[in-house]
Amino acid sequence: MPDTGLLVTLALARGGLDRAAERRSDEVWFDTAWSDPATRVLVVHRGKARVRGVEQSAREPVISDLSYDGASRRWAEAESGSVELVLVGPQQAAYDGVRVLLAVENGITYVALLVEGAREPWDAPDGATWEGLREVGAALGDRDAGLFVVATALANWHTGHPRCPRCGVATVAAQAGWSRTCPADASQHFPRSDPAVIVLVLDDDDRALLGRRAEWPDGFFSTLAGFVEAGESAEITVIREVAEEAGVDVDRLDYLGSQPWPFPASLMLGYHARLVPGSPPARPDGEEITEVRWFTREEMRAGCEAGSVRIPPSISIARRLIERWYGAPLPGSWARP
Ligand SMILES: [Zn+2]
Repeated sequence: MPDTGLLVTLALARGGLDRAAERRSDEVWFDTAWSDPATRVLVVHRGKARVRGVEQSAREPVISDLSYDGASRRWAEAESGSVELVLVGPQQAAYDGVRVLLAVENGITYVALLVEGAREPWDAPDGATWEGLREVGAALGDRDAGLFVVATALANWHTGHPRCPRCGVATVAAQAGWSRTCPADASQHFPRSDPAVIVLVLDDDDRALLGRRAEWPDGFFSTLAGFVEAGESAEITVIREVAEEAGVDVDRLDYLGSQPWPFPASLMLGYHARLVPGSPPARPDGEEITEVRWFTREEMRAGCEAGSVRIPPSISIARRLIERWYGAPLPGSWARP
C-alpha cells in the first residue's frame, strides 16, 4: 500500500478481499457454489462465530486451556494471526439462515450462513469457542478479519431490518444476501453504514484531551466521538461534538483513516484536531461525558504503565489515534482485568 500518511493497519479495515459483487445477482452461480464441497462457510450465530487459536509449529499454542472468559479477554490483545475462524463445507452447515456471499479468493468461494435461533447450532469442537468480532477481530489474520467484519455487518443488518420500511411486510433476502426485497411492492433495500467521527484533540503544547463517559469506571479514557447528523459534514461534526462533549473549540483537522465498526452499523472516521488558541477551558458536558483530562506524553505513559489510566483495546481506532500521537504502542487496555 502506498504511504498515504493515514492509519493503514486498522484491525477491522484489513482484508482487501474480492467481494465478487458481479456474482450477487447470479442465483445459478451462487447455488452451484453452495453445492461445491470446496466452498468455505462461516456460520454466524447471533453475531458470533467459532474461532480457535492457531498452533505455531515453533512454539506452544498461543491459546491453550483457557476458560471461555479468559480466552475472550486474552484474544482481545493477542497478535494478528494468532486466532482463526472455523470454516466448514456447505454439507456441514445445513441450518436455516441467510446465505451471504462474502468473497471469492483463489477460486474458493466464502459464504456466511447467518443463523438466528435460541441455541448455538452445534457444539464448538476441539477447543474452538463462539466469539464476537469485538473480542477476536484484532487477533484474526487479514483474510479472516475481512470475512468476519462483512459477515457481522450483514448479520446485524438482516436482523435489524426484517420488514419493508414502506409497507411493513416481511422482506426476503436477495442478491446473495446483499439486499432485501419486499414481496408486496417489489422495493429493494440495501445495507447501510452510519458515519461517525472519532477525534483526538491536541493542544499547542502537544497534550492530548481524553474523556470518560458516565458509565465507565474511574481511569477509563478514550477519544471523543459522535454520529454525523443528517445534513452535516464530517468536519462540522468534529467541531460540534468536541464543543458539546468537552466545551472546547478546535480547528486544523487531520483526517487519518476510517474503519467499519459494525456494532451495529457504524463507519468510524478518525481525526486529530487542534485546540483553537483562546478556546474556553475543557469541561465535561456532565451527561455523556463526566470527566475530561489533558495528558502529556509522560502522564499517558506513566498512567498506562501503572494501570491508573486505561485506554481502549487495539481493535479500536480510538487507541490508534492515541498511539499515533504518542508515537509508540502503549501498555494495557480495557480488555485486561
Ligand atoms: Zn413493501
